[in-house]
Amino acid sequence: MQNNTSFVSVETALQIMLDSVTTVGHERVHLLEAAGRILYEDIRSDINIPPFDNSAMDGYAVRSTDTKWSSATTPVPFMVAGEIQAGGGLKDRILAKGTAIRIMTGAPVPEGADAVIPVEFTVEDGHRGRMLAYKELKTHENIRCAGEDVTAGQTVLKRGDALKSADIGLLAALNKKEIPVYKKPAVAIISTGDEIVEVGEETAPGKIRNTNAYTLIAEVRKYNGDPRYLGIARDTLTTTREKFEEALQADVVISTGGVSMGKYDLVKQVLEELGVDVKIEKIRMKPGKPMIFGVRGRTLYFGLPGNPVSTMVSFIEFVRPVLLRLGGARVIDKPEIRAKLEHDIRKSSERKEFIRARFSIIGGSFHVTATGPQGSGILRSMSLANCLIVIPEDVAEYKKGDFVIVQLINHEEII
Ligand code: AMP
Ligand code: MG
Repeated sequence: MQNNTSFVSVETALQIMLDSVTTVGHERVHLLEAAGRILYEDIRSDINIPPFDNSAMDGYAVRSTDTKWSSATTPVPFMVAGEIQAGGGLKDRILAKGTAIRIMTGAPVPEGADAVIPVEFTVEDGHRGRMLAYKELKTHENIRCAGEDVTAGQTVLKRGDALKSADIGLLAALNKKEIPVYKKPAVAIISTGDEIVEVGEETAPGKIRNTNAYTLIAEVRKYNGDPRYLGIARDTLTTTREKFEEALQADVVISTGGVSMGKYDLVKQVLEELGVDVKIEKIRMKPGKPMIFGVRGRTLYFGLPGNPVSTMVSFIEFVRPVLLRLGGARVIDKPEIRAKLEHDIRKSSERKEFIRARFSIIGGSFHVTATGPQGSGILRSMSLANCLIVIPEDVAEYKKGDFVIVQLINHEEII
């Protein structure tokens, strides 16, 4: 018997989860620590960038009208009246008509000048203090005008932006040293199962190495979470209860395993005892059908299935967007592209399926191929993947040459 209230679609599940999200608090971090963090406030500039008109070239500051008719064959002569270096002050720099001032890239343009002739279009006759200009200039040519990058009063970054390297540079240009960011959500991670052996521990027949905790810690870090690994809860009610009670102090709890129908799948019972309001128990997806989502107070709980690929796919589809929203991010959707399928795919369920795959760019278009066996324990085909082919519930198969929707994973490293 299928209980339809808890056997929900991927879309409904995600909506229920996002509806349960509040946000974490905020803090100020040093500019050097701010890359990748989520901005808590809009950033307005109170200055122009650049703050003054400056030269884009090494050359001579002139009045553009003085270069009229100047060409490669008919140069116009100028008296060279001085020199301005980058970093030089603005004092006593007034350009008289018919004269030029030697100027370096980034140096302030003198009053009266409205163009810079690059040194390549000039010949200087040092002896007579003269320069010949071989080019007619337009007004503002080779001048970076005050405020052309950022104007005073402009909002340059928005609350919810994930700070990229260029954003950090902008903040530096605005002389911001302490940056207001959302706190990183604290994410408690628990592995479950008597069969699980920790990395570094001796194994024995019938044991399975703990992989999930490690993939999850890596994913949580990647999406702005602060992972706290609590170790393995063995398959007894007491130890499971203890670990879960400790974990529920965090903003988010992720456990893996113990949520299927097995005799020792104790998680549901423990959640009930600890007062977690379970909102979802199964999702119409493959891999990853048994998955619990619940709420206690402000804490969100995800009980991910134990198989390593199911864990990862469930994380990508649900925990990732929730974590980003919780941490204040404005953009939470996974990037999707359309790619041409290199082979037939037949679905093995009526659920929404996520096929581990690799896309490549051939002749300017996207092509995609599955990475191999799709069993939910086969982590290697996830390791080879850079995307997931998404097959909706109402599609049974795709043919070679069909265009399919592909969700990019690890795309930061690929594109
Ligand atoms: P369960 O839902 O607890 O029955 O787990 C389903 C499958 O996932 C079993 O084969 C487990 O051994 C495996 N599994 C559970 N937890 C982990 C883990 N932390 N690392 C690797 N495999 C796991
Ligand atoms: Mg188990």
